[in-house]
Amino acid sequence: MTIKKTTGIVRKIDQLGRLTIPIEYRRLYNLMPDDLVEMIGVTLDTPEGDLSVLLLKSYSLVCFCCGSDEYVQEHMGQLFCKKCREHFKRLGKGQ
Ligand SMILES: [Zn+2]
Repeated sequence: MTIKKTTGIVRKIDQLGRLTIPIEYRRLYNLMPDDLVEMIGVTLDTPEGDLSVLLLKSYSLVCFCCGSDEYVQEHMGQLFCKKCREHFKRLGKGQ
């Protein structure tokens, strides 16, 4: 892994643990209200020692089968869109 670019903006976490993502980052990474964001904790092995970082990654609910993001719901530990759920339901009934 090679880090191509780093930027830094300091923000304070409020009493409820909330953190506001600066508008500059929301614009840069196309983060919109109600988007899902996955938080990933990573420890990097650097020449100066371990470096713990928290990554924010855009997260979208997409169907395990077709990649659609329409009406996605979890079923049996996987995400499926409405179309695929109905398809598998019909297969289960032998139609
Ligand atoms: Zn699907």
